[in-house]
Amino acid sequence: MSALETLQLLDAEHVMQTYGRVPIAFVRGSGCRLWDSEGREYLDFLAGLAVVSLGHAHPEVASAIADQANTLLHVSNLYYNDLQPRLAARIDGLLGGGGRVFFGNSGAEANECAIKLARRWGMTHGGPSRFHVVTAFRSFHGRTLATLAATGQPEKQEPFQPVPEGFRHVPFGDPAALEAAMDDRVAAVLLEPVQGEGGVNPAPEGYLEAVRALCDERDALMIVDEVQTGLGRTGRWFGFEHAGVRPDVVTIAKALGNGMPIGACWARAEVGESFSPGDHATTFGGQPLAARAALAVLDVMEREDVPTRAFRAGKRLADGVLTLPGVVAVRGWGLLLGAQLNRPVAGAVVAACLEGGLVVNAVAADTIRFAPPLLVSDDEIDVAVDIVGAALADLIGEGNA
Ligand code: PLP
Repeated sequence: MSALETLQLLDAEHVMQTYGRVPIAFVRGSGCRLWDSEGREYLDFLAGLAVVSLGHAHPEVASAIADQANTLLHVSNLYYNDLQPRLAARIDGLLGGGGRVFFGNSGAEANECAIKLARRWGMTHGGPSRFHVVTAFRSFHGRTLATLAATGQPEKQEPFQPVPEGFRHVPFGDPAALEAAMDDRVAAVLLEPVQGEGGVNPAPEGYLEAVRALCDERDALMIVDEVQTGLGRTGRWFGFEHAGVRPDVVTIAKALGNGMPIGACWARAEVGESFSPGDHATTFGGQPLAARAALAVLDVMEREDVPTRAFRAGKRLADGVLTLPGVVAVRGWGLLLGAQLNRPVAGAVVAACLEGGLVVNAVAADTIRFAPPLLVSDDEIDVAVDIVGAALADLIGEGNA
């Protein structure tokens, strides 16, 4: 029996079957490269799911984690630790200052915090009926009950009804629909600057500005979910910067720990101060190990100027993919890109890419997502484009561009 077959048997017998897994088990990574249990090498153009922005086993992050593991892994939030406030200050600095941060362990927890904060804020800005949050169809905000209710994909909510009340969904990119949904029971609008899981759909030009203006007019909070887009991926530190707006609340997670679980909810001070001691908590939030990893991540990100690198690399990747047969458009910003195909064969293309040694995924029947590490080299991009090109040529045919 191969190592993979052994793992598959163990998984089938002992792991809750919540994931439709590809039959590959990764055992090692370095930079943009991954190796599987059978010794095959891959180029990773997914980086987890937009998590490993500095690449696998980044030496500086790895040694910070090892050093912290030998120093202090955890103390409870009943006490200060020497890293959590420093990390909060760094995140606040990236967001322009004047804010407060709450730490959790995932994107869903960061959004859960934002939703609770909006309810707390709504209570003092309109009263107990002001707890509704407007989000977009095809959004993705997480799988906890509240973030699932926020997620604008009814089919994902259906098996778990009733989900918590207080969420309204509007078409993404349509300011008039948002305006119609905003009555005085709405405490906040929650949006991704680029819908990642929903198919790599960037906010249309002018939309985030219109959302900001509506939130100002109706005295509602603008919450931006930067869990997938944050920390350089779109070619700016945060996706909302493409629109020049300043949100009231920003959530981040994936790239912050480069694989170490951590999530953060930032709010401008007046909003963040809606929470009082006892309102929100999590055992592992802002613990020394994750905070140390995140500080190391931010050090490297700033030194390498990852937003600029992502912008340049994203252009090379998009230009390359756009020349391939069957690709009708490339959507997205920076290194969060979706290649739209002229037919619904994304699943087969992804499988052929894996055969060719490239990890990408399908976010729709006709869309392939690319989210490589932000330090990806030009050569790695060119190799990836060649692999996708070969897969498309086989499946769609050279003459079918
Ligand atoms: N928000 C966005 C935009 C995401 O892309 C994701 C995960 O893909 C989440 C929230 C949920 O994050 P997590 O899976 O860490 O809970």
